[in-house]
Amino acid sequence: MRLLEFYNSFPTEESCKKDFKLMREKVGITCKVCGGCAHYWLKSKEMYQCKLNSCRFRTSLKSGTVMENSKLSFHIWYKAMHLITATKNNISAVEVQRQLGIKNYEPVFEMLNKLRLIMGKRDEQYTLDGIVEFDEGFFSNSEILKENEFTNQKEELKRGKGSQKKSAIAVLHSTSKVELNLKSKSKHKSDRKPKFLKMYQLAFVNSKEISQTIKKSISKKAELITDKAKYYNDLQDKVTKHTPYDSKKVNILKVLPWVHKAISNIKGTLWNIYKGVSNDYMQNYLSEYCFKYNRRSFGVNVFNRLVLASALYQWN
Ligand SMILES: [Zn+2]
Repeated sequence: MRLLEFYNSFPTEESCKKDFKLMREKVGITCKVCGGCAHYWLKSKEMYQCKLNSCRFRTSLKSGTVMENSKLSFHIWYKAMHLITATKNNISAVEVQRQLGIKNYEPVFEMLNKLRLIMGKRDEQYTLDGIVEFDEGFFSNSEILKENEFTNQKEELKRGKGSQKKSAIAVLHSTSKVELNLKSKSKHKSDRKPKFLKMYQLAFVNSKEISQTIKKSISKKAELITDKAKYYNDLQDKVTKHTPYDSKKVNILKVLPWVHKAISNIKGTLWNIYKGVSNDYMQNYLSEYCFKYNRRSFGVNVFNRLVLASALYQWN
């Protein structure tokens, strides 16, 4: 949503509350006690009441959503969601705090992490199909490795060196075939165009963890492309076709172009915006990046998608 449009649509707390109520009713309210979906709106109390006579449990507008237990106003949540979705890049809590003029950092940091978490939950609803590139990116805990260090660091980690200091991210990028236009002046002469992206923080880099990540992220109908690391030996039954390329024989950056572009971009983002991130919050930053990347063609509608997700998913 564009800035002017946002301020025209949501000038007050009341306007945000009204919109959020509509969104909640669109996705449905579920009673915490009996699980029923039929509710009355009690205007004087600003609460939903369960229609079941033996229950009558009341649900506030924020309860059961990402805003549950939050003391921040609807207007603050809406402004934060606008700031998150207004630009292509991730945004730091410090910047949101500065833009919104909020005194304390902690509630802003908490709000942003809750929003990032529901962005991850939203994307978990989808599996990747088509031709899927897979690789891992490696990050040190406090700094992002420079791009030219990437290959050596990966080899070291695969040999089991230095793994305590680094965290690994599984990166999956779905693509679809396109006619290669040889006359095109585009830098990327790939015969595949990028579709959707998933990134997961890995607890360990081993066959079991990689196999589970592939299973939860990719459709069985998909085709998988990887390098020839030993962790990828038993992936055949997870997809229609698995093609491992030997990095000693082919230029792996050309075989897996989109996954490497994504790794390079997320490193840049994490370093430029956050100056490095701790392991505890890494997954949330990755989820924010993927949510926005996967909706890059939605234009101004990304804001509405985030409001929808915030009404759908509970924080805990
Ligand atoms: Zn009930």
